[in-house]
Amino acid sequence: MNKILIVEDSLPIIQLHSFLVKKAGFEPVTATTFEELKNLKVALNEFFCAIIDYSLPDAPDGEAIHYLLENKVPGIVMTGMLDDDIRDKMLKLPIIDYITKESKQAYNYLHNLILRLQKNERVKVLVVDDSQSALSFLRRLLVRHNYKVLTANSGSKALEQLKANPDIKLVITDKEMPNMNGLELCNEIRAIHNKDEISIIGISGADNPSLTAKFIKNGANDFLKKPFCPEEFYCRVQQNIEYIENIETITRQANTDFLTALYNRRYFFESLAHLVKSKENQTLAMLDIDFFKSINDNYGHEVGDVVLKEVSSLLAKHFSEQLVARLGGEEFSVHFGSMPIDEAEDLLEDLRLELAAMSINANGQNVSCTISIGLTCGVFASLDQLINRADELLYEAKDTGRNRIVANQ
Ligand code: GH3
Ligand code: MG
Ligand code: MG
Ligand code: MG
Repeated sequence: MNKILIVEDSLPIIQLHSFLVKKAGFEPVTATTFEELKNLKVALNEFFCAIIDYSLPDAPDGEAIHYLLENKVPGIVMTGMLDDDIRDKMLKLPIIDYITKESKQAYNYLHNLILRLQKNERVKVLVVDDSQSALSFLRRLLVRHNYKVLTANSGSKALEQLKANPDIKLVITDKEMPNMNGLELCNEIRAIHNKDEISIIGISGADNPSLTAKFIKNGANDFLKKPFCPEEFYCRVQQNIEYIENIETITRQANTDFLTALYNRRYFFESLAHLVKSKENQTLAMLDIDFFKSINDNYGHEVGDVVLKEVSSLLAKHFSEQLVARLGGEEFSVHFGSMPIDEAEDLLEDLRLELAAMSINANGQNVSCTISIGLTCGVFASLDQLINRADELLYEAKDTGRNRIVANQ
């Protein structure tokens, strides 16, 4: 489904839409009249979605929209004249969204919408309601925007779903439900996940003005009163999901190294501190590229950066099951949990040999390099002591000729 259909009679707008569609990674297919649309060579079920002009010369009153909806092509409607009458008609149709062409933001909005629809395929939303018809209604709305929808008809089922799907980003819950109501469910969820991990939107039809505050005080991020219009529903859902995604992005940026995308020093220390206190054996290696300064001196800093990235990818490939971090400069660390030291040494030896035999192509130059490794295993009083021990062994590896592992308890 890598095609997007553009139904539009104005050539400049076709060009603009095609540009946006290509930018989002899709292939544009165009029809400039209703007639052309009906005689399209491409099967309609091949389209990810359609961008449809409300009014075409041979279909002035949204006929193309109806035709595509009947053929199950999800549509984004572009309209010029948005009087209340057309807007109401539009809102009653199961379209993805409508955009007024005159608005300065229209094309930006369209671009973001296409990206959002692509992203939503990976976003899990859990809907909780004791009424089957309410569940189906909400599911239909969410599926239209490509969300991955899970449902639960009670609070306890919702908690089971959350446990089985830790990647759920948003929970939409009804207030009135037997056994556990929506407010109680919010409390239960918040005992496990905070507002930055999962968003909750409460829904209720009850005419109680204090309900919004109640939901929010019980841990919901947002509230919707039934009946609501789909337009408001989508805006709220999107806002609450974007909030979670922004927090994820910030957290990832704070924990990873910009150049190599490996975990950074801060994350490494934070995640290991409590393990050292567990009094179990800890196996840890410190690694440092040999004569890295001379790579920078001979080939330039940019080539040095490429070498750092390549060595990092190799580390990530070899130690996908371990915690690998760039502690600074050309220095890395791998934490093996409590793996026996001989096993860890074998894994490190594989890496050392592969790197030594490798030729890294950086800006047209072939560069090779080696790495020295200090490896230790034991129970240490603190993380600093564990790292210091591995560091001592690393310096022994440097002193005794580099490109080697020195392993010791
Ligand atoms: P040794 O074998 O003893 O480890 O020698 P070395 O040259 O690798 O070690 P030294 O500590 O003398 O030099 C490390 C160099 O790494 C110096 C510094 O400029 C360079 N470096 C640190 N961070 C970066 C970086 O992000 N990019 C590049 N290109 N160079 C970096
Ligand atoms: Mg109910
Ligand atoms: Mg070095
Ligand atoms: Mg160094």
